[in-house]
Amino acid sequence: MKFCPKCEVKLKKDGSDLKCSKCGYVDGDTPSQQKKVVPEESTEAFNVFAENEGEESLPTIKIECESCGNDEAVWWMLQTRSADEPTTQFYRCTKCRYTWRNYA
Ligand SMILES: [Zn+2]
Ligand SMILES: [Zn+2]
Repeated sequence: MKFCPKCEVKLKKDGSDLKCSKCGYVDGDTPSQQKKVVPEESTEAFNVFAENEGEESLPTIKIECESCGNDEAVWWMLQTRSADEPTTQFYRCTKCRYTWRNYA
């Protein structure tokens, strides 16, 4: 059994390849498959929310805020510029809006 290196979702069989149903990652011998294009400015996560809209729709998680001790934060994932680097998970406290990241 193999897992997606990006989102750790179990890979499903797709023809002769194994494919991630979440991000479309393909684990196989055919690199000719469509590759998901990572946006150039994908590292600008903090700015995304500086402007902000749609934060309400983000999932929340029970995690302690390093700043105020609140126990709930919204979170989102972001693929960093290099595909070799792991996906970064960001958290934002629902109370004080302190934002921090977690290198999965
Ligand atoms: Zn995936
Ligand atoms: Zn906080």
